Formats: sequence, C-alpha cells, structure tokens
Amino acid sequence: MTASISLPDAWPPESWIKVLPQGLYVEPGDFFVDPVRPAQRAVITHGHADHARPNNARVLATPDTIAIMRARYGEAAGGSLQPSPYGETVRIGEVDVRFVPAGHVLGSAQAVMEYRGCRIVVSGDYKRRADPTCAPFEPVTCDVFVTEATFGLPVFRHPPDEGEIARLLHSVELFPERSHVVGAYALGKCQRVIALIRKAGYDKPIFLHGAHIPLCNLYRELGVDLGELIPATGLKKDAFVGRIVMAPPSAVADRWARRLPDPVVAMASGWMTVRQRARQRGVELPLVISDHADWDELCATIEEVGAPEVWVTHGREEALVHYATGRGIRARALALVGFDEEGQGELPDLEQPPAAGAAPARGALL
Ligand SMILES: [Zn+2]
Ligand SMILES: [Zn+2]
Repeated sequence: MTASISLPDAWPPESWIKVLPQGLYVEPGDFFVDPVRPAQRAVITHGHADHARPNNARVLATPDTIAIMRARYGEAAGGSLQPSPYGETVRIGEVDVRFVPAGHVLGSAQAVMEYRGCRIVVSGDYKRRADPTCAPFEPVTCDVFVTEATFGLPVFRHPPDEGEIARLLHSVELFPERSHVVGAYALGKCQRVIALIRKAGYDKPIFLHGAHIPLCNLYRELGVDLGELIPATGLKKDAFVGRIVMAPPSAVADRWARRLPDPVVAMASGWMTVRQRARQRGVELPLVISDHADWDELCATIEEVGAPEVWVTHGREEALVHYATGRGIRARALALVGFDEEGQGELPDLEQPPAAGAAPARGALL
C-alpha cells in the first residue's frame, strides 16, 4: 500500500488476523478460518478434509459445504452448523464475513472478511477453469489476498480439460476389449471428471468404486447431473468390458483393479504433469486435470484482485512470493501447518498413515 492511498484503520492486517498453531485466527471476530484443531468458532472454506475438520463447536460455511461435512462426519461435523449462501454478509464479533465462489469443488468459497475498512480475502483452494460441478471463482478486490500455491511453480501449466478427456475417450474407443479405470479423489475430482466425460458426449453408464458412491449421490441430490452411474460391486468381469470405472487413486493399481478386464490405468491429477509420478504409480494414461490454479492462473489472480499485499500458503510458496514482490506487491509465505501441500483432490501420499487422533486423512473416503 503506497503512502498516497489512505490506509484502512485496521492496518497492518497482522494486527487483527494472526497465524496461530490452530490456523488463521481473526481476533476481532474470535474465530478461525479452516482451523486444523477443533475451535470454538470456525469459518470453513470447503469440504476437503485438510480444511473442514470435525468437532468445531460452531461452524459457518456454505450450505453445500455443510452438506458435505454432514455426509463425511455425521454428528462430528460440528456443534452448530450455520449455512451461509454465497453473497450473504454475516457479522461475527466486529467482522463482516461473506462467502464468494472459489471454483474448487461444490460449495467451495473464498472467505471475504472486512474489519474497519480493511478487506482480507482467504481464498482457500481455488481454480479458474470452468467446472460443470461448481460455481466459478469470482475475483474480489481486496487489501490482502491469501492464496494457496499447490502448483506455484512456472513448470505447472495445466492443459485444457477437454483435451485430457478426449484422450481418455479416444483410448476407450481404441481398446474396446479392455476396461478403463480412472483414479480420482472422492470429493470434487471424481464428479468433475464424470461431468466432463458427459459434456464430451459420452452417455454410457459409468461404474463407481464403492468409495465414490456416497459423494456422487450427494452431488446429485445437490443438483449436479452425472448421468447414469452403476456401483461396480458384485458384478462379473464381463460387465466392465469397454467401460469406464471411477475409483480412488489408491485403488487403481492394487488388488481391487484386478477384478477388471485388462484395465487401462488412468489417473486424473495436476501432478500427472510429472511423468515420474505417473510411472511410479503404474499409470498408463495420465490425465492432467486439477482442481487448483496453475502457475499462470495464480499469477493472473494476484493481478486481478489488485491487493497491495499477498500471503501465500500451502504449497510451493517461494516462487509466488518472488513473483508478487517483483510486481511491487508486499508478499509473505504463511507458515500454516496441517494443510495438504500436495493438494487435496490431487494425489494422496499413500505411504503416510494418518496421525493418531487426527481428522480423516487425505485419502479418507468417508
Ligand atoms: Zn481443497
Ligand atoms: Zn487445500
């Protein structure tokens, strides 16, 4: 912020929004945004397990995020759950809070917080591509923009989704005697891949691993059309010949996939840009489909929101901090712990067992 512009009363922003071990704490509202430990009051940006954890006493989130938390956690979703639709302003203490679409998964939101003339936007996770399963990201001009940086390196440039889906459907056509198993995260990625397949004109039934059924059902209840879906359980091998089967990333290369006829193993993840990762996981058909902004989109978003100050969190912070600083923006890396640097919905680290007493780990499928 230059001296010629009048500073908000609540400046510097660190005077009212603080990094504590539990997460980002908004002092004049006495609440946390996406706390990593149970809090008295939590504002939740979206349903992924590293952002929406169970057992907060009071939760403010969008209606769809609350539905997702209820589906995942049941009673443990929180003491009181207050739904707030996009655009509504809720006063918490002395802070005005409003959710704006983040374009990441169904219900995902940026938390826009205003206090004494200072506006901070915590974007949670976001992407800029059109996604048929959720509302598109809306840039909000602000004084401080808190951005993720999962793919915060110039090497990460996601190709158009349509091309990746076309490669999948081409392979299905090419190998009519084989099945295609597509690894995708249970919340968001699975439904988006199905919706993109439908958009490309494929109208045959798509088969689902058991772990994908509850959230696909919930998405449909919440109004997202996914076409005909069939549970893959209890069917004979023949049923999958020439078909597409959606499964969690952990299932595509293990015993479960052996029930399928000569499966082509595909995986939908932003990390599929890295060929070595695809090879390590035995992925024959890597599909670069991400629910996070790529490098160009991160940079463009920083420009668009016009914030004089940017805070960078989970992921590869340094490059984005460097980029912003070079544009005359004050930038810092936030040392927030407990977030999934690999990007929930991208690729779980199978080798890491969940910590005892922790919320369902990434990869936890209800
Ligand atoms: Zn997420
Ligand atoms: Zn995240």
